[in-house]
Amino acid sequence: MYQSFIGLEVHIHLLTKTKVFCGCRSAFGDEPNTNVCPVCMGYPGVLPALNIEAMRMGCMVARALNCRIPPRTWFERKQYFYPDMPKNYQISQFASPLGQEGYLDLEDRGIRGGGRGESPKRVRIKECHLEEDAGKMIHTGTVSLLDYNRAGVSLLEIVTEPDMETGEDAEIFIQQLRRMVRYLGVCDGNMEEGSLRADANVSINLPGKGLGRKVEIKNLNSSRFVRLALNHEIVRQGERLDAGKTVVQETRLWNENRDQTEPMRTKENAQDYRYFPEPDLPVFEPDKAFLASVEAALVELPVPRMRRFETDFGLSPEQADLICDEKAQADYFEATVTAAVQRGMEKRDAAARLCNWLLTDIKHLLSREGLSPRDLPSFTLGPGRLAALAALVARGEVSLKNAREAAEAVLAEDKDPEIIIRERGWERIADPEKIAQTVNSVYTAEAAVFEEVRSAHTGGNTKRANTLTAYLVGKVLSASGGRADPGIVRSQVEALIAKPA
Ligand code: ADP
Ligand code: ZN
Ligand code: MG
Repeated sequence: MYQSFIGLEVHIHLLTKTKVFCGCRSAFGDEPNTNVCPVCMGYPGVLPALNIEAMRMGCMVARALNCRIPPRTWFERKQYFYPDMPKNYQISQFASPLGQEGYLDLEDRGIRGGGRGESPKRVRIKECHLEEDAGKMIHTGTVSLLDYNRAGVSLLEIVTEPDMETGEDAEIFIQQLRRMVRYLGVCDGNMEEGSLRADANVSINLPGKGLGRKVEIKNLNSSRFVRLALNHEIVRQGERLDAGKTVVQETRLWNENRDQTEPMRTKENAQDYRYFPEPDLPVFEPDKAFLASVEAALVELPVPRMRRFETDFGLSPEQADLICDEKAQADYFEATVTAAVQRGMEKRDAAARLCNWLLTDIKHLLSREGLSPRDLPSFTLGPGRLAALAALVARGEVSLKNAREAAEAVLAEDKDPEIIIRERGWERIADPEKIAQTVNSVYTAEAAVFEEVRSAHTGGNTKRANTLTAYLVGKVLSASGGRADPGIVRSQVEALIAKPA
């Protein structure tokens, strides 16, 4: 058996409104070559200027990844020639990146079987550096088209040490990082559109022999492909070593149609990028105010939040994972539980009911309205309204069925649930005399069934008797529009059965 080593280089597009060194709009999907200017097109004599928002967002990610922000950070020119990069060099960071020597503990979700481990696997972060993206090449038939809208867009590269061992580790790393940057609001995490891209490096060696000769797999645009490509590569490299061959140090690509990695180019020696300090940008020395603004922008991260939802609210790891998938949804959930507690519900009871409600009914309502969990902050059925409904159900004042209908009506009419319920007359009926009227009318209509229950009882056919009793209780409930208290209905129906006709 071999030991395997995996290191990732993840690029994320920062959600800055403008590009990293010029004022051009930074947006996906605009008309090609409309968001360009002399700076990002690399005209001679122009001056780049650092977008401070990009630096702030980069530092937020660095802090969330437990990195050190150095007192001085600067930019270098990375020279290479490629048509998607009009300047023929990329402004990047080399000697003093904005984030250094951090770590991310891989979340053991405990839902992949086997329960939660005691010590999570720690992946060291080598660095986070800020750079500019290149343009986009579109190859069609015999021509290649260039779109420079992406040239100069703020890109943060996160480089890990080779601390992961399996494709699964790398997949969890990416998913966790993705959720983290979305929580921070610095990246939309859209891998299909290329807002989050990963290069995966992998080598294998005999145990105790240290790192092997690495292969780099470029441009993986889904976390699943990261897992598949790495696991495929680990097997492929093992087969080579088993056969007495060596692994060629090269760059490979994942072919998703053939489920295998394929060579792209060999990379025997490190390419010489002739890095040198960017003369047109000053060294950046983060001052107290800047660092304070970074701290102020940090939020509770997804993993600690999930753990808190488990311990405070009694959610299962699976529930916490689903609720915390989206920050807006976790916020909505928490606000609703708080509002329900203010209405007298017990915290864990409220959390359990609302979790179910959120993951089923609310989810359906959202998708029916063409909304996503990210739209929850402006959802018509806000936390206060949902909490009010949950409290009414918990106190037995409204049936769950009516509460569900009320939720729909709140959405349709933008009114508070209490008003809807009063207007519809959906308050639960707990007055025994009112219920007795309905029970009596069912008694008249279903006299034969009542008689059949009695004879079933006398004949010792309990099963039949129970089935028919349930039927009668159901009749009364539906005759009351689902509003009569089921406990009272049942005892009245049973009393009538016990009474000889
Ligand atoms: P390069 O100079 O080829 O860019 P780096 O040292 O910058 O290499 O590392 C790039 C990525 O490759 C990092 O994520 C690192 O963890 C990973 N890496 C480096 N060496 C190995 C190796 N022998 N096996 C697996 N991963 C490696
Ligand atoms: Zn520009
Ligand atoms: Mg490198």
